[in-house]
Amino acid sequence: MLKSLTSKGLVLYNRNFREDDKLVKIFTEQAGKRMFFVKHAAKSKLSPIIQPLTAADLLIKVNDEGLSYIEDYQAAKTFKRINNDLFCLAYASYVAALADASIQDNQRDPALFAFLEKTLDLMEQGLDYEVLTNIFEIQILSRFGVQLNLHDCAFCHRANLAFDFSFKYGGVLCPAHYHQDERRCHLNPNVLFLLDQFQAVEFDDLETISLKADIKQELRQFIDLLYDEYVGLHLKSKKFIDSLGDWGTILKNRQDKESL
Ligand SMILES: [Zn+2]
Repeated sequence: MLKSLTSKGLVLYNRNFREDDKLVKIFTEQAGKRMFFVKHAAKSKLSPIIQPLTAADLLIKVNDEGLSYIEDYQAAKTFKRINNDLFCLAYASYVAALADASIQDNQRDPALFAFLEKTLDLMEQGLDYEVLTNIFEIQILSRFGVQLNLHDCAFCHRANLAFDFSFKYGGVLCPAHYHQDERRCHLNPNVLFLLDQFQAVEFDDLETISLKADIKQELRQFIDLLYDEYVGLHLKSKKFIDSLGDWGTILKNRQDKESL
């Protein structure tokens, strides 16, 4: 049965369907993520709002058993700055894909919708997209059923110490309890300090976050380890970020020089 409603929506991706129609996956605030059918997509009045990472207020007809439909829209929003920066776009696409992977279709999750939209808004404002991505990755772990205690020692529960991470105990160990896991990670304690902050960060605090390249590299590596161990996702958008690696840095340095 089709049900009409209005909701904010954010396009996750689209794909061609038959001659000139499209299937568009949209994460809606009120009805979760759903697949929408758009007939004659190129000529449709809906064509401005079916590109990935476009947000709009939608009037929709949702269908729990099959494809849903967009009746009308207003207040379309594209992320211009994100779309004009290959690197930022790669990270934005990855956080959208993570949100997509973390929930079932048709499952309403306004909190996740707000979190994703806010993360994209902050990327659009020019905040550090690598750090925003890390925060998103850490906070969304709970939706994959992963709860990590990064705040206090698994044994003595003291906080604010030079912690290391233990996969054996799924949490952090203080220096007095490092010996409990001979295969502890030997991380830089600052990485765990930051991740503990990221778990509880308020968006208003973000504008002041600024991290050096080497600690960002350590964060990236450790979050990859956590995802390999606990989540086991293989997203194309993440592989793309990984492949940006070295030649990406070269390209970026050149871009920075040209913009001086
Ligand atoms: Zn301890």
